[in-house]
Amino acid sequence: MNLALLHDEDLVAADRALIRGRRLQHLQSVLKSAIGDRVPVGRINGPMGTGEIVRLDDDEAELQLTLDQPAPPPLPLTLVLAMPRPKMFRRIIQTCAALGVKDIWLINSYKVEKSFWQTPWLSEPHLRENLTLGLEQARDTAMPQVHVRKLFKPFVEDELPGLLEGKQGLVAHPGTATPCPTHLPGPALLCVGPEGGFTPYEVGKLEEAGCQGVHLGPRILRVETAVPVLISRLFDLCT
Ligand code: SAM
Repeated sequence: MNLALLHDEDLVAADRALIRGRRLQHLQSVLKSAIGDRVPVGRINGPMGTGEIVRLDDDEAELQLTLDQPAPPPLPLTLVLAMPRPKMFRRIIQTCAALGVKDIWLINSYKVEKSFWQTPWLSEPHLRENLTLGLEQARDTAMPQVHVRKLFKPFVEDELPGLLEGKQGLVAHPGTATPCPTHLPGPALLCVGPEGGFTPYEVGKLEEAGCQGVHLGPRILRVETAVPVLISRLFDLCT
């Protein structure tokens, strides 16, 4: 946790917050914080800055807030992701949040097992928790939006063309002819397939909607690896 993300309910005054639970434990056990220390904090979907620890008990810490910095710029990316296996899901969602992806569409695909959609990690509190962990890791406050579409065809035919307006559309698919571009000049929409890959029919439908097939070379990467590799090729994360 490189920043404590503050929810409205953490604020006891405009410039005072109380933190408990996981974030308090992190202050105590990892940062070994003491009264007078300043720790990085930010308000969800708001500014960031520091919190001076003015009281520290076993149960809570009280912070005096100075929130005077903007969150880092979001990535101009819409990520369309075939629903990953639950075991991977949390980590991928945290990584997406840490990398600055703000618009995530979880879609069905032939090789997505039906049971994946039953995962408790898709529930609102779990999604929020994992997105929060990613934001806290990266020092960001802007909460990503996650959309769930359990039917592939209606999504691709009815919604994808609208999402693609003003964006460069890409579908990452091993074996396609075009290498994944680098340093894109503008916004993009990127589709990433499931563990078993998109079927030829699905790639065809995504291409028909306006996404160009791109590859990352001959090595087949796990989704959790492919996502950060693709994003770091498409955008300069160091600016
Ligand atoms: N056997 C599957 C196939 O050939 O499509 C492998 C799927 S891979 C584990 C999961 C997803 O990660 C792919 O659908 C694709 O979106 C992305 N991916 C992984 N390695 C890739 C590569 N070398 N080029 C392009 N995309 C890749």
